[in-house]
Parts: sequence; structure tokens; C-alpha cells
Amino acid sequence: MGGGTPQDMCSRSEYPLRAPKPVGQLISNIYKDRINQFTTGGQWESRNLRAMMHEAQVSGEPHVQLWVWDAPGQSRPTFKEAVSHEFRKTKVGEAFGPSWSTHWFKVTLKVPDDIRDKRLVELHWDANNEGLIWTEDGKPLQGLTGGNERVEWILPKSFLDGKEHTIYIEMACNGMFGNAPGGDSIQPPDPNKYFRLDRAEIVAVNPDARQLGIDMWIIGDAAREFPQDSWEQHKALQTCNRVIEAFKLGDKESLKTCRDIAKEYLGPNVDSAKVYDSGKEPLVYGIGHCHIDSCWLWPFDETKRKVARSWSNQCDLMERYPELNFACSQAQQYKWLRELYPSVFERVKKKVSEGRFHPIGGSWVEHDTNLPSGESLVRQFLYGQRFFESNFGSRCQTFWLPDTFGYSSQLPQLCRLAGMNRFLTQKLSWNNINKFPHTTFNWVALDGSQVICHMPPAETYTAEAHFGDVKRSMSQHKSLDHDATSLLVFGKGDGGGGPTWQQIEKLRRCRGISDNVGLLPRVHMGSSVDDFFDRLELKADSFVTWYGELYFELHRGTYTTQANNKRNNRRAEDALRTLELLATITSIKDKSYKYPKKDFDDMWESVLLCQFHDCLPGSSIEMCYRDSDKIYSKVFETAEKILSGISEVFEFTRTNKTTLADGLVLNSLPWHRKEVVEISENEAAVACGQGPFLRLRKLQTPEDSPLVSVKQTASDVHVLENSQLKVTIDHGLITSIYDKTSDREVVPKGQKANQYVIFDDKPLYWQAWDVEVYHLDTRKELNPHSTTVLDEKNHRVSVATKTRISEESWIETTISLSAALDGQQSYVEVESKVEWHETMKFLKVEFPVDVRNTEASYETQFGIVRRPTHYNTSWDMAKFEVCSHRFADLSENGYGVSILNDSKYGFATTGNLMRLSLLRSPKAPDAHADMGTHHIRWAILPHNGSLSHVTVRKAYEFNNPLKLVSTPEGTADASLRAGPPVKLTATSNPALVLDTVKRGEDDEDVSRGELPKKDGKSVILRIYDSLGGRARGTIETTWDVKKVTKTNLLEDDLKEVEFADGKFDIDLKPFEVATFKLQLA
Ligand SMILES: [Zn+2]
Repeated sequence: MGGGTPQDMCSRSEYPLRAPKPVGQLISNIYKDRINQFTTGGQWESRNLRAMMHEAQVSGEPHVQLWVWDAPGQSRPTFKEAVSHEFRKTKVGEAFGPSWSTHWFKVTLKVPDDIRDKRLVELHWDANNEGLIWTEDGKPLQGLTGGNERVEWILPKSFLDGKEHTIYIEMACNGMFGNAPGGDSIQPPDPNKYFRLDRAEIVAVNPDARQLGIDMWIIGDAAREFPQDSWEQHKALQTCNRVIEAFKLGDKESLKTCRDIAKEYLGPNVDSAKVYDSGKEPLVYGIGHCHIDSCWLWPFDETKRKVARSWSNQCDLMERYPELNFACSQAQQYKWLRELYPSVFERVKKKVSEGRFHPIGGSWVEHDTNLPSGESLVRQFLYGQRFFESNFGSRCQTFWLPDTFGYSSQLPQLCRLAGMNRFLTQKLSWNNINKFPHTTFNWVALDGSQVICHMPPAETYTAEAHFGDVKRSMSQHKSLDHDATSLLVFGKGDGGGGPTWQQIEKLRRCRGISDNVGLLPRVHMGSSVDDFFDRLELKADSFVTWYGELYFELHRGTYTTQANNKRNNRRAEDALRTLELLATITSIKDKSYKYPKKDFDDMWESVLLCQFHDCLPGSSIEMCYRDSDKIYSKVFETAEKILSGISEVFEFTRTNKTTLADGLVLNSLPWHRKEVVEISENEAAVACGQGPFLRLRKLQTPEDSPLVSVKQTASDVHVLENSQLKVTIDHGLITSIYDKTSDREVVPKGQKANQYVIFDDKPLYWQAWDVEVYHLDTRKELNPHSTTVLDEKNHRVSVATKTRISEESWIETTISLSAALDGQQSYVEVESKVEWHETMKFLKVEFPVDVRNTEASYETQFGIVRRPTHYNTSWDMAKFEVCSHRFADLSENGYGVSILNDSKYGFATTGNLMRLSLLRSPKAPDAHADMGTHHIRWAILPHNGSLSHVTVRKAYEFNNPLKLVSTPEGTADASLRAGPPVKLTATSNPALVLDTVKRGEDDEDVSRGELPKKDGKSVILRIYDSLGGRARGTIETTWDVKKVTKTNLLEDDLKEVEFADGKFDIDLKPFEVATFKLQLA
């Protein structure tokens, strides 16, 4: 039977028959905007949640008493020194400065009785600059940022006793991003900034109000950022509006009600780390991080304080937030902390041992990877990993380099050889032409070695841990086919700081939403970067691959800016290579000679520091380059000292004048060398041989023709000629280089080589960093004045020209040709002295060559990288300016031309036009970058055949001129002339380069005790294949070797190599970097 009548059913329902009132749909945008009004400042703050944040606040005497001592000038005295001075009374409202000065405050706090029992009592200090809170007895507690950011310090319970307690605050007169005037942080610093102490007050915080503020921040974001067509968005909007309606100004109980409503959306556990215990599979792994540029818009000395401020913050936060895991790189920063802030270092060390604070990166600093030499990259890892191992008991597994300006194609190989198979970076998301297509992939080096690379899809290493950062960790993930997980690297950075409590609280709520509502990718806290990569590694064989360099499509000006700094880098690298070789030989020859390990360590650590990714690239303020000039001059001083020590053992003196009988030349290169060297004003000799000291022979001049000549053939036309080359210089420009040996013209007819060109250089924003593609459209040729003959010597001829750039700037150029020697490729050498006083101009020099290829070759670390000479695609075109080391080469089958240089890194080859970048003139962040005098050398090296060892060796030789030394007649040590104690035999593949010879780090007579000493003496050899083919050879040594092992870069034995009769064979794969350890008997 049927049921009851319709009337019966109605009576059982409470649903009214008639609509009691009109109800409208939420007008979404208005209700969304209203959320902001609940927490914002300004006109609403006396009536919204803000009005209930603080239950009490007191400032001024007797509760907050302030004294100050102003440190003189730009000094940064220690705590001990500071507190020994007389302090004067001060108060809120006083301004402190100028820029970079330091002021120490003595702060006496007396908590009023009526807030002693409050749940959360803080000191709020805001002087709009950075600060560090110290205990009365000199222990750093926590950093302060200023400008409303990180201004609170929680008073310890012991301070709530109603008595006076003293702390010190060290104020640094700089903001997080230095001292730029106005709002543009990359403008050169204002030297005269003052900072007002706005707040110094004791505040009792209402924790419910504070937590509700964070609840609303995140649910509000869900309402704003979840898609409009999702129920999760609508629910968030509803929740926010219900909270706002439940809020009753002045009623503390209503805050609890509001929070209960919020938890309907966030879930019940967001007030603790328990929120992460749901057991559900996360996708986004949050890791706290603090990127501190070792110098940038502030000097190195300020960074030392930034480290103490930032890392003490993190140790402090870890006490309150058990889920916080913090990864931090740069061994140098740990070393600074150890030396200057031992108590903070101990605190960090404790957190490291608890597995919360994670040293990461394995390198000395977060260095540039375009410009340092191969051996420098090796030492970044060697010094970094040794520091981490000796101080924290283990090495790093992940190379961490979020913020550098392009990535050398050899990095994966070097990482693997330094014990790291993971790599994290991020900067490629700044590409301004092509979007890099992967998030997680295998990155493959020139030699085929690979690392797992992850680029956080939130596209930042300083995430604010916003709802949007978590969301983008999925929406911008480009490798979802293979793995959907990602790292979220959060925390204030660049200027330091690290995670804030707000960020950690926000992530708890994001996780709550994922578990309780869904839609947001589930974030997890509490694991490490290594844990993240451990999981990736299990499926890494399915990841896509990227072969070769990760070219950064931005910041191409950094190959050129701050020329002097780059020149110093090249010189220092060469000096270190030379001295390590000579000191190794000396220490084995003479037992009384002590291998100067400490000096080498100091030199290397200095060079490695200056390779920091804002220093060597040229993107720092002027102060940093004054510092790096000092650092390098100390390096060169130490180099002189080491060389003196070696010269005492070998009894030679350096000279610029000698005789055939007495003279020798000092050589640091590992192959047979034959060159003309000047031994006095008008006399030259031939240095010939192999080994550290080469003999001099008479330079034979044939009867019938000079070795080299210069002739004027027409008005302002000169011809320089030797047995291989005939060079025509017409009105200061090279119009012809005729290669007699190959019967080829190098310069295309009608074109001009060694042509200076100048460009307008106004990038879109980042002046020191960027040169933009449109600068090429502004090319202007600079024409030299008339040419004069400068040298007309038997062995060398030169002509000189002067080129005016502007009223203030000019170039003096010397073009030289030396006598050609049999078996040695001759080249045209150019020396320039540039007086440079331009604004936003870029100076380059061009070489059109009669060679055709769609790819040019550039020297990179331990190898070459090929790049297009055309603009077929946007990826090709993006490489309109590239990085090159000692040479760039354009070769076709059978013939080519190399351009060598002594200190430059920027290059471009377009069609048949090769172009070396010389000088830039950006005005930010250093207003005087590159102004002044520059000495630059380059050479045009034509060669028969394709790119070969001829170019590789000539480029080394061009950068390492032979040095004349004298030995007292008759007393010369026979061993001086005895040839090299270790070498590649003549039958070895000439592509092999024996680049580094040094002593073993832990040899008992060398070690400085960081790691356990090893018995006996050893020598480390680093050899690479420079041209990209399998290369076999034999190493021969006169040392008494008992065992040879192949090792990694950290000098760990990999396998024993068969050694007999003073020889062992090597067999390198294309572009392989191999290290061998010779254990001496
Ligand atoms: Zn950086």
C-alpha cells in the first residue's frame, strides 16, 4: 500500500512551506576582500583582530632602560670589546648611523607585575636595521631584522620575576639588503643612512589572537587561490566569513570560538607538529633554508654577522618547532662562525648531531661555476667536503647551488668524484627566453657522468611558505610523468634570516588543509634533503636526461663585469698551480723543505671565497671589490713568499736579464716547450725542454732573411712577417693574416680583424649582471689613429696604435709578431691598455675569420663546450653571449682559428665573426665598476687541422709565460736541468693534460690535522682529456714510488694501478678528469 497523504509528510518535515525571507548568493569578490579587512592595519586595526593581538605593552623607564655605545667608524668590535666601553643613555626615537656603523645597546628589562603571569611575553625591538641579541655574559641569542620583520624576542621565564634583567643588542646600520637609497636595492649604497629606533617595548601577546591571524591568512589564501569551481574554495570562503562574524572585539572567549570554526577547515592538529603525523603520503617536502650571499649588497664582514644572526635564529626556532629541519651550505660560513662565534657554532653542532641542522652542498662557498678553473671547482669540493667531514663527521651528498648564474657542463662529473650524486638548483627559472622543461631529471656531464637534479617548482630558494608556494610546488612541476614530489625551500634569504615562526605555522595549516579538505598538495616537514633525494634515487633511471651545460639565459654580463677581479682570479689560479707543482718537487727533493700547506690553504680559501656567486661574476657593491683586491694582494704576497722559499732550495734568483750560460726559465707546464724568450733588452734566446727549469739556447738567425720583420708598404699600412705568418695592418686594423704554411688567408677579403666595437649596454634591470640581446643592434666601430712601429727586434716586431673611445676613454694597442720556431704554431699577439671611463657601454674586439661551421668551441673546465654560431631557434639565439676560458675556437674540417686571452671570459661567435668581450660599465650596484686602467692580452692563433692540443697548449702557455731565472755560474743544481720528475711520455695522447701536481692532503709531513694523518709521502696528479676522445698515455716518474692508486677528488683510493719501471699507463674516457696518487717509498 502507499504511504500517508502529502499533508502527513509535510507535517513530519520542518521545512517551511513558504520562504521566510530572500537569501542571496555570496558575492564572491566582495566576501573575499572582506577577509583582508579582518587582519589588516590602517583604518580597521583598532576594530579588528589586531586590536586583540597584544594584551599589554610597556616601553620606557623603568621597564625598558636603554644605553648605547657607538663603535667608531665602520668597525665591528667583538662583544668583549664593546661592553668594555662606557655606554650613554638613549631612548626610542633616536636615530643611529651612518651606514655600516655599529651600535651596541645595553637593555635593562623589568617586566611589570601585571603581565608577569601572561602566557607569552616578548621584547619587540624595531630599529629598521639588523641586530643581534646577546646575553649579559656574551652569548648570541637571536637575530633581528627590523622594519616589522623578525622584531620579537620571547622573554625567558626567568625574566618574568619582576626584577631587572640585562641583555645587549648589537645594531648593524644596514638593512637585510644593505643600504641602497630608496626602494631599488641594487642601486649603489647610500653612505649616509640613519636608522631610527622605533620600538623597544615589553609586550604580552595573546597567543589565540596570533594563531587565529595565521589561520585566517591561510584559509583566506585558500578562498582566494583555490579554483572558483572547487567546493574547497567555497568552503574556505564560508569559513572565513563565519570566523569574522563570530569575532567579538574585546572578548577573549570569542577568539577560541573563531579558532574552532577555523579548525573545521584546517583540521584539529594545526597547533603542533602532530599535524604531520597523519601518515598520508606527502608530495611537497618543506626544508628550512637561509641563503646568505657571502658578499653582495654588503661586505664579507657583514656576512660573518649575518651568519651568527641567522643561524642562532634557527637554533632558537628548533627548540619550539620540532618539525623544523634546516639545510645550510657554504663551509666558509661555518668556519667564520666557528672562529668568531664559538658558542653559536657549538649550538649549531649540537643541532647537527640531533639531525635537525643539515650542513649541505659540499663546497667551500656557493660559487660561480662559469668562471672558476677546473681545479678551482675541484678545490671548492675538496675544501668544502673536508671541512664538513672534519667538523661534523660526514660529507655532504647533495651539491647545493640554488643561486648561481649558469652551470658548467663538467659539474656532474666533479660532483660524483666528490662523493655527491644529487644536485639542487633553481636559478634557471629566471631564464628570460626559454623555459627550462624539467623539474627532476638526470643531468649528464661532458664525460657522461650523471647526477639527479631537482629544481624546486615553487621557483624560489627563499619561499615565504605561502599557500601559493605549496600550490605551485604541484602546478609548476614539470616532471610529473616520473615523480610528483618536490622540495619547498623556504626561509628569508639572500641577506640571510632563514625561516620565521610565521612560515612554520603557515605550513602546519597547509598540511592541515591537505589532510582535512584536500586539493592542496600535501606538504611534509621533518625530513631532510637527503631523505628527499634518497626516494628519488630509487626511480632515477626513469628520469629524463639533460646533456651538457645548463646555460642560464640571463646574467650574461657576469662573464665580463669587474674585469680586475676576474684577472686576479686567473692569475691566482695559475700561481697556485705553478707553486703546488714546484713545492711538491721541492718537498720531495729536500727533506728540510716544509711543504707550505697552511699557505696553500690560506691562498685557496681566499681564491675560493672570491669565487662566490656575487663576487667573481661582478654583481656586488664597490666595498666588496675593495675587499677582494686586498684578499688577492695577500694571495700574491704569499705566492711570492712561497716562490722565495723554493728558490732558496734550488739556488736561483728571478731576473729580467741574464746570459745564455747562466739563464734558465721557470716553467710550470707539463709538456715540451719551445719558445723565444727575451734575455736582455735586445737579445733573445730559445727556451726549450720539459720540466720546471728549461735551458736557453742561442736563437739562430739565418743569413738570408730576418726571423721576423716589419715593413711599411703604403701610407699607414704595415706588414709583419715571419716564416709562418704575414700580417697586414692597415690603418691600425688587421686586414690580412696570410698563413704561409697552409696557404690560407685567415681574414675574409675586405673585412677587418682586431676591430674594436662598442655597444650601448642598458639591460632591462640587472645592470652589472645582464647584457640584453638588443645591445647587438647598437654596434659602433672604433677606428684607430695612425700606426707606429714600436719594436723592430731580431726576434720580435710590434706596431702600436691608439684608438679613441670618447673624450675620456682610449685604447693603446700593440700588435706583435715573434720569430716563428719550427714545430711551433705562430700567432699574432695583441696587448692593450684601456683607459675606461664610460657609462653603460660594452667594449668588445672582433675577429672575422674565413672559416665556416655551425658550431664554435669554447674552453670550459677540463674540456671544451660547443655552442651554435647561428640563431636557428630561440635556444640558439639565447646564447648570444657565452662563457669561455682561455680560448674560443672556430674550426672547419682541416683548418681553424683560435682566439686566446689572458683574463677574459665573455665571448660570442656569430657566423664567421668571433668576438671577445673586454669591458662593461654598469653603474649598479657598483657605481664605479671597471672605471680606470686595464691591461688585456689576447692572440689570434690560426691552425692547420681542427681544434687540437695545439690550441689547448698555446692557451696555457699564453697564460703562463716562461719566467727568467738566474743561477750563479757553476753552482747550478744539476737537478734544475734534469727534467720533470713526473711527466706524460712523448707517445702519450697529446690531448691529455697533467694539470695539477700536489702533495696528498693528509700526508704526515703535510697534514694540518683536520683529518687523520696518513703514513708516508704521496703526490696527487690530476689529468684530464681536453678534447673529448678516448686518450691513452703513460705517466713516467723518477720518484721512488711504491704504489699508484686512482682516487676521487677527495683523494680516497678507488683502485690500484699497475706500476712498474717508474711507469704506469692511463686510459681516459672522453673529457674524463682522473686523479692518481703516487705513494712514495
Ligand atoms: Zn645568492
